[in-house]
Amino acid sequence: MSADPIYTEMIIEYSRNPSNFGKIENPHIHRHDSNPLCGDSIDLYVNVDGNKITEVKFDGKGCAICMACTSVLTEMIKGKNLEEVKNFKKDDLLSELGLEHLIKTSPVRIKCALLSLKALKYGIYSYFVDKMNDTEAAGNLKEEAASLY
Ligand SMILES: [Zn+2]
Repeated sequence: MSADPIYTEMIIEYSRNPSNFGKIENPHIHRHDSNPLCGDSIDLYVNVDGNKITEVKFDGKGCAICMACTSVLTEMIKGKNLEEVKNFKKDDLLSELGLEHLIKTSPVRIKCALLSLKALKYGIYSYFVDKMNDTEAAGNLKEEAASLY
């Protein structure tokens, strides 16, 4: 590992032991996304009960930043309402790992950090629109996901 200040102990630890790593069979929400430039490729699985996220898992492969951010995201959204999670901002996730500065300093790394959030936003959008037939609830999630980075 380099001396790059991005690689904090917390990020290295998460990349070695990612949280909620695994797969959910027949999940309510499933979204695959990737960063071809870096090689990150993840699948996000979410189960909901009513409006509450009861189970979250992810698998795939990614760099340390991607694995750490995806781990933290799954920890943050578990047990929360879809309404709350819908309004998650990128800073909510980045600040958890002290990565807010990435937005300004690294256009490549920011994709690694926000890949899971993008997958989540698209995933919830599809869930509202395709499964619940509720475009109103989906709001502008799709536009938000597309403009994350
Ligand atoms: Zn990456």
